[in-house]
Amino acid sequence: MKKCHLCYEDIQDSAIRCKHCGADIAAAEAAAKDAKNEQAVSKFAGRFWGVVGALIFAALAYGAYTKFLYMSAAICAACGFVFLFFAPKA
Ligand SMILES: [Zn+2]
Repeated sequence: MKKCHLCYEDIQDSAIRCKHCGADIAAAEAAAKDAKNEQAVSKFAGRFWGVVGALIFAALAYGAYTKFLYMSAAICAACGFVFLFFAPKA
């Protein structure tokens, strides 16, 4: 048994429609699954860009210490700022 998302009455696990209030269970579950998948994808994307940002940041930081000191330092700071801006979403 599971509970209807609208009236919270017990319904069959295989029910596609609530027998108490008529709520479309299948559509609600599909939407919930989609939202979960989307969340997982955005979480992965956030982590991916976090890693990419960190790598670019590290590469530019390394470059700043070797060549192109001023220009790289500026790009480095900009990338660091972008990374910090996107990192909380990861
Ligand atoms: Zn119901």
